[in-house]
This record gives sequence, C-alpha cells and structure tokens, in this order.
Amino acid sequence: MGRKQNAIRRTVREFAEHRLAPVAHELDQQARFPWELMEPMKTMNLFGLQAAPQWGGAGLDTVSYVIVIEELSRVCAGVALAVTVHNSVSLFPIEAFGDAEQKGRLLPGMCSGDRIGAFCLTEPNAGSDISSVEASAVPEDGHYRLNANKVWVTNGAIADVAVVLARTDPGDRKRGFGLLVVERGMQGFSVGPLEDLCGMRANPVAALIMNDCPVPRKNLLGRSGDGIRMALQTLDVGRVGIAAQALGIAQGSLDASVEYAAQRRQFKSPILQFQSVQNMLADTATELDAARLLVYRAAWLRDSGAAFSDASAKAKLYASELATRAASRGVQIHGGYGYSKSYPIERYWRDARITEIYEGTSEMQRLVIARGLAREGGG
Ligand SMILES: Cc1cc2nc3c(=O)[nH]c(=O)nc-3n(C[C@H](O)[C@H](O)[C@H](O)COP(=O)(O)OP(=O)(O)OC[C@H]3O[C@@H](n4cnc5c(N)ncnc54)[C@H](O)[C@@H]3O)c2cc1C
Repeated sequence: MGRKQNAIRRTVREFAEHRLAPVAHELDQQARFPWELMEPMKTMNLFGLQAAPQWGGAGLDTVSYVIVIEELSRVCAGVALAVTVHNSVSLFPIEAFGDAEQKGRLLPGMCSGDRIGAFCLTEPNAGSDISSVEASAVPEDGHYRLNANKVWVTNGAIADVAVVLARTDPGDRKRGFGLLVVERGMQGFSVGPLEDLCGMRANPVAALIMNDCPVPRKNLLGRSGDGIRMALQTLDVGRVGIAAQALGIAQGSLDASVEYAAQRRQFKSPILQFQSVQNMLADTATELDAARLLVYRAAWLRDSGAAFSDASAKAKLYASELATRAASRGVQIHGGYGYSKSYPIERYWRDARITEIYEGTSEMQRLVIARGLAREGGG
C-alpha cells in the first residue's frame, strides 16, 4: 500500500472505531440509520469517494475505495452498505454514462451527501434475471411515463436519487431497456415500508414504487436500448465494493474472535491455547489474506484500465463466502455467547450472509466465471 492509502485506512478506521462502533449494536437492534453521523461522513467525503473533484468528489482510485469500504464494514456493515451502494451503483452510472448537463445537475448534491443514491433493478418477478424486468417507461411528450415496482432497494427509504432499469422501448422485448434517474418528489414516486431484515439492519432497505411517474427525458442516462449493458457494467463496479464489504466483515469477525479467545478461560487456560480454536483462527486468517489479494487485484485491474469483470466476480464470490465462514467460526469460538446479542459476532454472522446474495448471487458469479473460461477455451 502507498503512504496515501495507509493514511486513508487510518482516518476511516479511527472514524469507524470512535464514532460507529459505539452505536453499531443499537443501529442493528433499532434498525436505524445514523443521521447524527452524516456531518462527519460528509466531511470525510464518503459520498463522493471516486467521483471527479470537479463535482466535489475525492477522486480516489479503486484500491483506496476498497480500503474505505473494508474499514467501515469491519465495524458496521449496514452503514458501509449505504456508502458503497451510493458511490458504486448510483453515483457511478451517472458519472460514467450521463451527459454534461446531467452530471452538472446531479453529481454535486450526491458528492456532498446532501442527496443519497439508490440503484433499482430487482422486482418481484426479476431477480437474478434482470432481462425479465417489467418496469415500463413509455415515451410521451418530453417525458417517460414510468410504472415500476422496485423491491429490496438499498438506501430505499432515504434515497433522493434512484437509478432505475426499465423498458423504454416496448417494441424491442429483448434489448429495449434504459436507465432512468428518478428523483424524490417526482409525481407518483413513493417509498414502501421498510424491510425487516435479518442483517444489515442499519440500512433502510425498502421498495420504491413509481406510479405513472413522469420522468423528464433529460433524465435518461446514455441511450435507450443500452440499459442492460450499462446495468451490467455498473454491477461489475458494484461487486468490487460488495467484495470489500465482505472482506471487512471477515476481518471484524477474526478480530472479535481472537480477542474473545484470548480472554475466555476454560480448563484453567485461555481457549486460544487449544489447537482446535487455533485451527479455526488460522484458517480464517489465511483465507482472509487470499480474499484480500483477490479484492485488491480486482480494484487494481480497474485502476489500470484493464478488463476486471471476471476478477470482480471472483473477488465477490470468494470474499462473500469467506465472510460467512469467518463469522460462523467466530460464533463457534464464542460458544453460547456467540449465539446471543452480548457480543457483536452474531451481528457479523447475520450481516455476512447477504453478501453472497445481492449484486449477483454466488451462483451467478460462478456463471460469469465459467462463461469466461468457456470464452478462453473457445467454447
Ligand atoms: C438486503 C438486500 C439489499 C438489496 N439491495 C438491492 C438494491 O439496492 N437494488 C436491487 O436492484 N436489488 C437489491 N437487492 C436484491 C438482490 O440483488 C436480489 O435478491 C438478488 O439479485 C437475487 O435475486 P432474487 O432474490 O430474486 O433471487 P432469484 O433470482 O429468484 O434466485 C433464487 C435462487 O436461485 C438461484 N438461481 C437463479 N437463477 C439461476 C441460474 N441461472 N443458475 C443457477 N442458479 C440460479 C439463485 O442463485 C438463488 O440461489 C437486495 C436484496 C437484499 C436482501
């Protein structure tokens, strides 16, 4: 790591340990977003991490971005989720595919954190298969009439800006999709009830409903017909963030487990002295190093301008499955206390599980990786 990246890690770790850690348990239990931490988070530029400085962003490289998400997730993954989704799948597609007017209008408010972003693909009948999205955006005079029922939207209840995949060309069933920017306050836009989640409870995940919502044509990103391609490119970027999140949860689980094993005594000795416990910790530490290399490699490839879709799928697949293993071993090391709310390890366990599901399930990551192999093999 370079000196600048080490400094970023120190700054974010200090914020996470001093400001997030004291409230993380309560945020989880109350399913509450920490509005009181918005000002320090804004000051740290957490809402414009990779955006260009001309819009108010910090212009960070992807490796630095990964470090930020990893450090936040090590302490409170629900808040880290808000930051990663805002940056990588809401702000990113606007900066990557938007025109100058759209960027000038939308990005400054998003970079400052005054306007929170969301990304809406999933619907009741469209999960892994985004080509079955039913949301319809019918072109009319000067606007699209949007009808959509988007479910499981991260940041849903607090989002001011939502990037929405919808059918913009009813005549083209296969490719007629576009990405539209929908803004809170538009007629026909409403937020459904909060999801009562197993983990990531600090994040206000909710459905977003658009009922005959007139979205101005100037809010279409790129071209109609390119929606799926832009959504998939966005997910490649997003997956690096989710992989970083999983890495942070795994690291937090290991740290908590070592600390507990050092102080818990049985048979007149700290349980850290028992080889079975040592094996669990050693396995997690080794797999964590492997995951970190995969995640940083995906980030570095993106920074170098190389293809990184395959690397991002591998990083997300491995890091997310490790997060679940690391947290589960952590629960085992904590014994009965691991199964109670007295220690944070059970929260890590609940938070870890979703990283194997959202922004593409592990099964979909394996599909992406295997397709790459088939291409390389000429299949
Ligand atoms: C907390 C949370 C936050 C979320 N945030 C967002 C968000 O911000 N924006 C958004 O758009 N979505 C979001 N989602 C939705 C999430 O991305 C989807 O749940 C996920 O993509 C899986 O879709 P699904 O739930 O419909 O499962 P399905 O697609 O129905 O899959 C069910 C099972 O079948 C498997 N499966 C499906 N197809 C195949 C196949 N071809 N080959 C092998 N196995 C297959 C899957 O891997 C899975 O095991 C969120 C979900 C949660 C729980």
